[in-house]
Amino acid sequence: MMKTIDLRSDTVTLPTPTMREAICRAELGDDVFGEDPTTNRLEKLAAECMGKEAAMLVASGTMGNLACLLTHCRRGEEVILGDQSHTFLYEAGGMSALGGIHAHTVRNQPDGTMRLEDIEAAIRGSDVHFPRTRLICLENTHNRCNGSALTPEYTDAVAALARKRGVRVHLDGARIFNAAVALGVDAKELVRNADSVSFCLSKGLSAPVGSVICGSSEFIAEARRTRKVLGGGMRQSGVIAAPGITALEQMVARLAEDHANARRLAERIAHIRGLSADPERTQTNIVYFELAGKRVTAEKLVTQLGKRGIKLLRVGPGLLRAVTHYGISADDIDSTLAALREVMETR
Ligand SMILES: *Cc1c(COP(=O)(O)O)cnc(C)c1O
Repeated sequence: MMKTIDLRSDTVTLPTPTMREAICRAELGDDVFGEDPTTNRLEKLAAECMGKEAAMLVASGTMGNLACLLTHCRRGEEVILGDQSHTFLYEAGGMSALGGIHAHTVRNQPDGTMRLEDIEAAIRGSDVHFPRTRLICLENTHNRCNGSALTPEYTDAVAALARKRGVRVHLDGARIFNAAVALGVDAKELVRNADSVSFCLSKGLSAPVGSVICGSSEFIAEARRTRKVLGGGMRQSGVIAAPGITALEQMVARLAEDHANARRLAERIAHIRGLSADPERTQTNIVYFELAGKRVTAEKLVTQLGKRGIKLLRVGPGLLRAVTHYGISADDIDSTLAALREVMETR
């Protein structure tokens, strides 16, 4: 039987055997009453990992960002965020659909940052014509910008600017542990000056479901109300929290392996005729690569690799994405490279 090598996303990761056991053994209660001991344990652990007072389990990264944005902002208020950010591009416009929040995009640089001067220029003055700027959102690692990791210094600089102007900072840290591992810093340092943070348990950390948001006790108490509004009050959520605890305890350090695999994939792709990749920009587990010529289209490449059991994501005309994760070994990278060479180099 042909093995499937699924490089479309790290969301395809399946729970580890330890996670499945943890699900079976989880001590449970009703979390809407605050009585699920396993959820409480996860939330305490997550808050510690992020160096924040409190944390709350949510169903997904999208729900986490939305709950944070709805908690920070009232209707008609404005959020500054990157034009390539996940929240702007891929969260179904939830902030405006559900919160009446106005999105003000600032150009993302290839490394996932926004220039400080661009952010500063986007912050509104007090004038009745303008919406009120309430929040700045950062994304770390930056999904669309090569999975780049934002440094603690950059995040601190944005937060200092925000504070000076009376604006808050939310950090979409769906893959914050990838950033921490890539930069060799503690995740706490990456979020120390953010007012709220969301991160995913269900991507590289391989848990089956769930994200966590973190912030001050006051913020999280308010966000619990927001989550309830969104239908996100879950009952015996310990079945979700238990593998989440395993994820935080056992799955962070191994992300380095995913980064090494991604880097090698990018380095070798750069040497395949008709493909171009930028290994220097491949800091974490996301590899973007382009078709240089017109002979093979992105659709054709995806189809041809699919026939060989390898799944990639086409993310634009001539642009493809491969994401490494817990289910991908170094041998899988070699098989993928062999298949890419075969498709690109045979006529
Ligand atoms: C995946 C992702 C999300 C959303 O997470 P879901 O669990 O898919 O809703 C948010 N932000 C970033 C940067 C992501 O990559």
